[in-house]
Amino acid sequence: MTASQVINPATEQVIATVEPTGAAAVDAAIERAHRAAAGWREVAPGDRARLLRRFADAVDADLERLAALEVANSGHTLGNARWEAGNVRDLLHFAAGMPERLLGHQIPVAGGVDITFHEPLGVVGVIVPWNFPMPIAGWGFAPALAAGNTVVLKPAELTPLTALRLAELALEAGLPADVLQVLPGSGAVIGARFVTHPAVRKVVFTGSTEVGKQVMAGCAAQVKRVTLELGGKSANIVFADSDLERAAATAPYGVFDNAGQDCCARSRILVQRSVFDRFLELMEPAVRGLRVGDPAAEETEMGPLISAAHRAKVAGYIEPATKVAFTGACPEGPGFWYPPTVVLPDGPQDRLVREEIFGPVVAVLPFEDEAEAIAMANDTEYGLSGSIWTGDVGRALRVSRAVESGNLSVNSHSSVRYWTPFGGFKQSGLGRELGPDAALAFTETKNVFLAS
Ligand code: NDP
Repeated sequence: MTASQVINPATEQVIATVEPTGAAAVDAAIERAHRAAAGWREVAPGDRARLLRRFADAVDADLERLAALEVANSGHTLGNARWEAGNVRDLLHFAAGMPERLLGHQIPVAGGVDITFHEPLGVVGVIVPWNFPMPIAGWGFAPALAAGNTVVLKPAELTPLTALRLAELALEAGLPADVLQVLPGSGAVIGARFVTHPAVRKVVFTGSTEVGKQVMAGCAAQVKRVTLELGGKSANIVFADSDLERAAATAPYGVFDNAGQDCCARSRILVQRSVFDRFLELMEPAVRGLRVGDPAAEETEMGPLISAAHRAKVAGYIEPATKVAFTGACPEGPGFWYPPTVVLPDGPQDRLVREEIFGPVVAVLPFEDEAEAIAMANDTEYGLSGSIWTGDVGRALRVSRAVESGNLSVNSHSSVRYWTPFGGFKQSGLGRELGPDAALAFTETKNVFLAS
């Protein structure tokens, strides 16, 4: 098996080589995880919590190194990469509060006592994409470990370095061997084996809707538990009664963050027709002013795309007939650069409006009234995220309730907090991650009746 090269997308330089995990080694790792699960589930909740806190402290002590590694491997801006490492640290602290709070019920019955238990599943397989290697790894492993499971984790082939470092930190923090194993290499070999191996009791997959459907179909063969976080084509709905200056000035951050390689990207901006032209006028300087360049520089706001192939895919959406309203600047190269691009699509059926581009391209469309805004927002197979900009509280509530999406923010572009639930409607996914019930999703509920 040949080692695969890890490329810095901002320089196109090889920064590391990684040995991919072969099929036999994947099976061996799953079997080790299965054996380790028997011991890990018996670790007293308080001790499991203490180990997770030590792991969080190790991430904190290593935060600058993890961030620098992500900047080099993924082209994330330094500010974002620091936030991402901090997100794993904070989530581990949050997860450390879970083992002692996996409370069952005592249910009134005649002739005895009825009790429920939340038992760990065993081995959990986590499949991570390249767009947010650290947080998405953490969202899988932190609550799974808290609930008493062991984890085998496959990072994306393009971005394995921070996940490998997190596994080292877990060991340094004192987590027992084989409780968290990171297996770099191919999705077709490793991810697919998580789906078929009977000792893996749950698969957590984040990535494309297409591969997510294959994972779900594979899991169905064993009625294996599965959580899917898939694509998005989220709407940023701007009403005429909103604070238009703020909505327009912040819209670029709602879609161009991480160069648009974000399942929560608000890649459709729907603007009430009466303020459509004004909104674009206000948004233009914010887009042109975005600082795109060296992701390691403190002031940079947007880095490169992940690979040459991905840039070609993104560029393929902009055809000669596409109406480009305006673009921002980006470096010439080397590096897989693509400028922030605002397009005026050819109506709601245009593929710029329908498909997840996963790059810094946003389509802006007009709507007439609230009913049309809701209909347009819902006219998609996806339902992950979105924003609603309005000064009317009643409208904020009506529209939030009517939009078919798992995560909405009003007068804001934020999507993710580790203590609130995250997941998609429709083809954006299945199940929820994060939030107060995150650990429960990694347990089976057992009901026991004791006769008196
Ligand atoms: P994929 O869905 O192919 O990859 C996501 C993860 O799944 C990777 O770790 C990948 O491994 C793994 N994988 C691939 N094939 C299988 C399989 N048969 N069984 C199990 N796991 C598998 O996404 P891509 O990286 O190819 O990106 C393609 C498009 O998907 C993007 O352009 C974007 O539109 C969308 N996407 C959406 C994401 C989201 O967060 N919603 C995240 C990433 C992509 P490997 O690294 O070997 O490919």
